[in-house]
Amino acid sequence: LKTLIRGAYVLQLDNCSQILPRGDIVISNNLIEKVGQVDSSIEFDEIIDGSEMLAFPALFNAHTHVAMTLERGWAEDLPFDRWLNEKIWLAESNLQEEDVYWGTALAIAEMISSGTVGFADHYFFMDQAARAVDETGVKALLAWCHFGIGREHEVGRKTFEDTISFAQRWNGAAEGRIKTALGPHSPYMVPREVLCRFVEEGHRSGLGIHMHLSESMEQVEASLTQTGLTPVQYFDSLGGFDLNVPALMAHCNVVDDEDIRILAGKKVYVAHAPKTYQKLAMEMPPLIKMLDAGINMSLASDGPASNSDLNLLEVLRIAGLNQKFVSRDPEKMPVHSLLQMATKTSASAVGFENSGVLKEGSAADIVLSNTTSAHWIPRHNLAAGLVYSSHPADIEYVWCDGRLLYRKGEFLTLDLDHIRYEAEKRAFRMTGKPMLSMRKYKS
Ligand SMILES: [Zn+2]
Repeated sequence: LKTLIRGAYVLQLDNCSQILPRGDIVISNNLIEKVGQVDSSIEFDEIIDGSEMLAFPALFNAHTHVAMTLERGWAEDLPFDRWLNEKIWLAESNLQEEDVYWGTALAIAEMISSGTVGFADHYFFMDQAARAVDETGVKALLAWCHFGIGREHEVGRKTFEDTISFAQRWNGAAEGRIKTALGPHSPYMVPREVLCRFVEEGHRSGLGIHMHLSESMEQVEASLTQTGLTPVQYFDSLGGFDLNVPALMAHCNVVDDEDIRILAGKKVYVAHAPKTYQKLAMEMPPLIKMLDAGINMSLASDGPASNSDLNLLEVLRIAGLNQKFVSRDPEKMPVHSLLQMATKTSASAVGFENSGVLKEGSAADIVLSNTTSAHWIPRHNLAAGLVYSSHPADIEYVWCDGRLLYRKGEFLTLDLDHIRYEAEKRAFRMTGKPMLSMRKYKS
């Protein structure tokens, strides 16, 4: 199957943010065959008029819990411990397996229509998430979250072995669009011997680890008291960063110079989710310092219960604004660095190294955004327009692996009306009927 996108502004994001002013893109099966000028005598199955549209590499979300769409708006204006103990874990004590399917499908609709085709997810009942990813045509790195604090305290009463067998069952499924990782929750929740089992399992299976790390000063202080090490140094001392697949660590809000040296040296991917940090008034990681040290900084929304959406265009904007503001230096975090985080680095963090750039041979993960709305005009700098002026509603076409998923407001692989109904019905059931068995947050 061959598709031609004709005459678009093309933001290739291959080492720079230059725009090809009237570029053609040829999609052949799941790959980009050519970017540039295409001979008009060649035959195509479909030709899309790209005039006045900006083509850019589809975005990847490096850390989220997408089925938490069901808890969107349910825990507002609360401090982190009350947000978690009184609201989130209460609702999740009512979580049923199929809820995850509908919550994930709702999230995928939201992500596709805002230009994101891949995500790293960390949640429960992950077979249901995998089913939604498979059916809707997007890409994901899926990890089943495990606390290791006794089966009766785990969501769905799943064991360590259950979460491992999920990872083996789905890794490489859906024509390679699904990858899996091991999902210990965090060093502050998971006992040391269970973390060590995850590391052993990573060596045995070749799977990587996706986990929360060093989210607050309280966690760092507790870790220093209990182990004599910061959370980063503690996980490193267990060999957590020495697997074949680079580790994906969410947040790393509080890091010292030694932590930064370790994260850079061990090629760790850190998922940066500044909208959540601002909304829950958490510490902001030293993003510029971490990038300057060579850490693979990827971009993330975190779960929609905190974010409270999955619009990565907004996260891009917030990442730039926040760093300029806190550094009191408007030259910091230029547009290209921000776009690089949300495309190439995030795609690699999620396990799709061949995505995140529009060039020959890359995966055909492409977004076309209309640029004729008032907020784009005049079009002096389309890359900056994408970061600081664009709206998800500008997006008209989205491809993942060469398959068209979205065309002018219409979803081609999912039924949004059905999903909306099921998701809302289930969300109200979860939050309306509190049960007694709950895990407690401990810092
Ligand atoms: Zn998270």
